[in-house]
Amino acid sequence: MAYTAARRAYCPYSRFAVGAACETDIGCFVGCNIESASYGLCCCAERVALFSAVAQGAESITRLAVACTSATQHSLNEKVCCGACRQVMVELMEKGAEIIIYGVGVFTLDELLPIPFRIELDQIG
Ligand SMILES: [Zn+2]
Repeated sequence: MAYTAARRAYCPYSRFAVGAACETDIGCFVGCNIESASYGLCCCAERVALFSAVAQGAESITRLAVACTSATQHSLNEKVCCGACRQVMVELMEKGAEIIIYGVGVFTLDELLPIPFRIELDQIG
């Protein structure tokens, strides 16, 4: 599903297509990277999939697959998730969730982001 979702990527500036799919308690949701001429407004496929799942009412996200179909075949760094997406994954996905990176392997959130930024909600008052 992630690989197929990359075909819908809107990436006229980078021409770097990415697709993602996440598995939740209410089904699977896909995302693709979506760019804007105002580059800061671009959003990665992983976050589009995760945000879509949350917006549709998902309460438990257990797996996410990502496929960077435009990545150079032998480049590990072009296939892995960016730091912003890793931070969002830690917040929205279940502890112990699996991240499947097409052409690279399967990882846990702890492996991808061992020391995430967190705000302890009970300290906010
Ligand atoms: Zn990202």
